[in-house]
Amino acid sequence: MLSECDIPKYWYNVIADMTNKPLPLINPGTKQPLKAEDLYPLFAKACADQEMNYTDRFIDIPDEVRDMYRIYRPTPLVRATGLEQALDTPAHIYFKNESVSPVGSHKLNSAIAQAFYCKAEGVTNITTETGAGQWGAALSLAAKHFGLELAVYMVKISYNQKPYRRSIMQTYGAEVIASPSMSTKAGRKVITERPNYQGSLGTAISEAVELAMQTPNCKYVLGSVLNHVALHQTVIGMEAEKQMEMAGEYPDVIIACFGGGSNFSGLSFPFLRHNLSGEKQTRFIAAEPESCPKLTRGVFQYDFGDEAGYTPLIPMYTLGHDFSPANIHAGGLRYHGGGAIISQLKRDNLVDAVDIPQLESFKAAALFARTEGIIPAPESSHAIAATIREALRAKVEGRAPVILFNLSGHGLIDMSAYDRYFANDLSDYHVSDDEIIALTSKLEKIV
Ligand SMILES: *Cc1c(COP(=O)(O)O)cnc(C)c1O
Repeated sequence: MLSECDIPKYWYNVIADMTNKPLPLINPGTKQPLKAEDLYPLFAKACADQEMNYTDRFIDIPDEVRDMYRIYRPTPLVRATGLEQALDTPAHIYFKNESVSPVGSHKLNSAIAQAFYCKAEGVTNITTETGAGQWGAALSLAAKHFGLELAVYMVKISYNQKPYRRSIMQTYGAEVIASPSMSTKAGRKVITERPNYQGSLGTAISEAVELAMQTPNCKYVLGSVLNHVALHQTVIGMEAEKQMEMAGEYPDVIIACFGGGSNFSGLSFPFLRHNLSGEKQTRFIAAEPESCPKLTRGVFQYDFGDEAGYTPLIPMYTLGHDFSPANIHAGGLRYHGGGAIISQLKRDNLVDAVDIPQLESFKAAALFARTEGIIPAPESSHAIAATIREALRAKVEGRAPVILFNLSGHGLIDMSAYDRYFANDLSDYHVSDDEIIALTSKLEKIV
């Protein structure tokens, strides 16, 4: 085991090592590439600078951030021997257990960093959005720790259907608002057009951004998709690299579920470094839901990060910002785009993606719970399902690869989803080619 003194001192910035850098973010008004300064009104300066940092390979983790990481880091790296036996596979399966954070997921890794930078720059208030509530819960704890006021726009359907995550945020002292709300122009517009709309991440982002832009001393904080969020999450892979070394193995395959890419990036990038330098040939597999297949079936195009079109244009694989994913239980994976770094890596065939049907993800989750004891988050179950596919393929082909996957969170607050699965009350959702073509052909062609 790593001891607490082994909390990494640096995050790893993969862009510094990429031959083909991600294309720049673009200002939708002027169509010009953004500079870090353009983001200062919205984000903490340190985060805006990290977003545009294409040169520094390692970035210091501030002491205050490392001090808070100590509450739950380093997280365990576990050999899943129970799962290996149940699958009767020669593969060695390891997982990095990010579910041990106090909020139950990896999201705290970036929440702490972003709250710290806001505080250090004299910000008093922050806003954000949350889908299923994991990001909002993580940021609520980090905001309280650093003495910031937080307003969270929570997608209405989750606000009503997942009251416990709302309670968690309120317990940490955050204000939680169901989105769409009447408190912003973006929210009022949606409610006027579609009075019964149950909300989406895109709308909630629009509301949080609008509030941040109109409130003095207030910044917006995002839990995934952007480069600086992926950067903060690399603490996962930096630890895992040392832990795998202590286990005397090196992963042949690395798998993580994929919503906006933060936990996938976090585990993968420190290992990808050795592929980029030519030393290793690890395969990286992003596991996305069949109902939201941006990496496997989306188009590479500039698109907005939100529904209302307030964010900069991001060069990424996307299903179109109007895409409205089916209401699957892996709420954290219902995002329309893949982010700039991962999308470039995917274009260059440096990472792969698979799409996983909802029922397969729950079947994998139940097997994992029964063999390893941890009830996984519905999001993480996509990584488990992809791992099981790889392990079974290895058995057929007579190979014994080392597979490492990220357990991004536990599912203890998602038991109603498990209830529905065991009651045969869940289904798969396939997206038609026609729908993808219709939504993506509306995007303005910039590349
Ligand atoms: C939010 C979340 C995800 C998806 O987000 P990424 O940015 O793609 O990592 C996955 N798992 C859990 C447990 C989450 O909370």
